[in-house]
Amino acid sequence: MKLYNLKEHQEQVSFGQAVRQGLGRNQGLFFPSELPELGDVDALLEMDFVSRSSKILSAFIGEELAADTVEQMVKNAFQFPAPVARVKDGVYALELFHGPTLAFKDFGGRFMAQSLAAVSDSDGKITILTATSGDTGAAVAHAFHGMDNIKVVILYPKGKISPLQEKLFCTLGGNICTVAVNGTFDDCQALVKQAFDDEKLRKDIGLNSANSINISRLMAQICYYFEAVAQLPKAERDNLVVAVPSGNFGNLTAGLLAKALGLPVKRFIAATNVNDTVPRYLQSGQWEPKPTIPTISNAMDVSQPNNWPRIEELCQLKGWGLSELGYGAVTDEQAAETLREMDVEGYLCEPHGAVAYRILTEQLQEGETGMFLCTAHPAKFKEVVDDILEKDIDLPGPLAKHNAMELLSLERDNDFGQLKEVLYSVQD
Ligand SMILES: *Cc1c(COP(=O)(O)O)cnc(C)c1O
Repeated sequence: MKLYNLKEHQEQVSFGQAVRQGLGRNQGLFFPSELPELGDVDALLEMDFVSRSSKILSAFIGEELAADTVEQMVKNAFQFPAPVARVKDGVYALELFHGPTLAFKDFGGRFMAQSLAAVSDSDGKITILTATSGDTGAAVAHAFHGMDNIKVVILYPKGKISPLQEKLFCTLGGNICTVAVNGTFDDCQALVKQAFDDEKLRKDIGLNSANSINISRLMAQICYYFEAVAQLPKAERDNLVVAVPSGNFGNLTAGLLAKALGLPVKRFIAATNVNDTVPRYLQSGQWEPKPTIPTISNAMDVSQPNNWPRIEELCQLKGWGLSELGYGAVTDEQAAETLREMDVEGYLCEPHGAVAYRILTEQLQEGETGMFLCTAHPAKFKEVVDDILEKDIDLPGPLAKHNAMELLSLERDNDFGQLKEVLYSVQD
């Protein structure tokens, strides 16, 4: 597999290099030079999730990794389903929250972990260092847990993430080291940056950020769009409209890549909360990010979505006009109202999914089938959901299990010397 840097097209890398580096020169995103031919998509849709996903990812990666290796990576990564639930006539939910951290990021995070292990030489050390305000830390910790040749250090601001979130990823132990820093999230990020700027440290421990723009994440996410269509009744596959609740637009990029590979999707809808840089851009042609506004769908509180250049590139390559994309933005009040409506339909959702559902059902036309992505489990946003629906929703198994476990975090000051000590000490 070859990929090029969207900012400097002459920089070409292999899959392995793209996975290890994350970003190219000048902070450019990597994009595949060629999209594979998948052949008969109907036949592909007949296969089971793991076999089909292995086939898609192996076609992408090409000769760099043996097909058996890719299949094993997929088996290790996709250990939970992506079921489709019917919400009402002609409207379906793709539930992406059945993984260990109850959000779709488990798919990409776990496949990235497998990819990184597969493309790194066995005696080279790898240390993942990341700062989190909650969600990404949990997904990274669970994705790498048990991969004993990779050490993971996660910093978070002490007392500033929800107790439930802390329990979810600070109870794992083994190769996962969590550090509660006496400081803010910005302090944690600054410490991480300082570590990456330290050339000697970086070499000594093989520092890697495993960050969210890694191409391996998007490739994994393509697979669940195929899984979604495979579960639809055949009669409803032809006029499918898919709404994607979007923040950094990785999920929508993956959906459009699935379409480019031949998945029959008539139209995608980019759904956001009031952080609506993209909907305004699609409306006016002007790219005008505003300051980020906090909302109840906080994983989408992004005003400068970092995957957008990949969408522009793909649309250009395929000759798709941006005007073919549906779009819309939803306020917190509307999202809350929609959650209540969905509850009446008998479907328990959370604010991110509700944003997509609302715009989907507003824009769905006669004869079309609608699908929206449910990106997180309702219990992950328990306080907000309980409050809006006046309920006390149950914690699902994994969350309840971790909630009962002991916290294993170290506590350190906002001090680079102390961080360095931790980074060296986890090596043995
Ligand atoms: C990350 C996240 C999103 C946004 O996904 P992007 O790929 O960044 O657009 C939406 N919902 C939830 C629950 C998330 O965690």
